[in-house]
Amino acid sequence: MSDVTVVGAGVIGLSCAVRLLEAGLEVTVRCADAPEDTVSAVAAAVWYPSGFPAGDARSLDWARGGFDQLAQDVIHGAPGVTMRRTRMLLRRPAPSPWWSAAVPDFRLVEHDGAQSGVTQEWQFTVPTVEMRPYLRWLIQRVSSSGGVLERRPVRTLDELATRVVVNASGLGARTLADDDAVHAIRGQIVLVSNPGIETSVRDENHPAGHAYVHPRSTDVVLGGTVEPHQYGTTPDPEVTAAILERCRALVPELAHARVLGQAVGLRPGRTGGIRLEVGPGPRSGTHVVHTYGHGGAGVTLAWGCADEVARIIQSL
Ligand SMILES: Cc1cc2nc3c(=O)[nH]c(=O)nc-3n(C[C@H](O)[C@H](O)[C@H](O)COP(=O)(O)OP(=O)(O)OC[C@H]3O[C@@H](n4cnc5c(N)ncnc54)[C@H](O)[C@@H]3O)c2cc1C
Repeated sequence: MSDVTVVGAGVIGLSCAVRLLEAGLEVTVRCADAPEDTVSAVAAAVWYPSGFPAGDARSLDWARGGFDQLAQDVIHGAPGVTMRRTRMLLRRPAPSPWWSAAVPDFRLVEHDGAQSGVTQEWQFTVPTVEMRPYLRWLIQRVSSSGGVLERRPVRTLDELATRVVVNASGLGARTLADDDAVHAIRGQIVLVSNPGIETSVRDENHPAGHAYVHPRSTDVVLGGTVEPHQYGTTPDPEVTAAILERCRALVPELAHARVLGQAVGLRPGRTGGIRLEVGPGPRSGTHVVHTYGHGGAGVTLAWGCADEVARIIQSL
């Protein structure tokens, strides 16, 4: 029998599984959905702690852990990971964000703001991940290190017989951990052909709603919506049209980019923030480590959180 069962094969569960296997533990990953059907597969997925406006020391550790591991992945040629120059446009003065301490080349640039309403911008270079190849690579890493991946839903955490269970079930934690604070934050995006764009651009205070343009190897992700407590998974054509309009205004080179598709993902939000802590398991001597509620920043924080989960389990 394995030492640890990880519930969840999104980016949070798979990164935990890799870290625990690296620590020499036997790991089984249980998942309800195929990895390509998770919200992790829909993510844009740029390193950026979205939705965590006021970071604390722990969030900075997770953010740094995520940045450093993904930057290493770039150096080692992991599929789908690149470093991407980014511009975050600001419509009102803002101090450097808490997470800038994790980003080596972060800088604040002043604008006159006369034309576009943009008064400043943050410029930085961060890892960007194409999630489908990256998730496939993580799964390969789990299997080649002796981990087992089982596609079979877990009804209750009590049914799992291993000494340690890692609950990385994302939105599923609402039921599995009986946690009413967990809720969906719906996100709709549009994919277009890439006319040769290299730089990510974000305009989160755009008067008409969030706007971001994230180029990838063969397409560009345009976003997007951030809709707490919304659960519909069908893309809304009017929202698609509005995203296209905002993003084309932001990056005029996109004017003739072909629309390739649209997608919706339900981010695993949690009122009060991420839950990463250990508690007692159902039987004496067993433990549950919860790591869920990563909202719009799961890709950003995954490795940092996995490091903390591995440290907790090794100390039990
Ligand atoms: C449009 C959009 C853009 C995004 N962009 C970014 C970005 O740029 N940067 C960033 O960092 N993040 C981004 N995110 C957020 C990111 O996608 C999430 O934070 C992250 O994917 C959450 O990962 P997770 O593993 O917790 O959840 P998921 O990927 O949802 O995985 C949950 C896993 O738990 C399993 N599970 C659930 N219940 C059970 C059960 N009962 N039994 C067994 N298994 C179960 C599921 O099958 C699945 O395998 C974006 C999200 C969206 C929607």
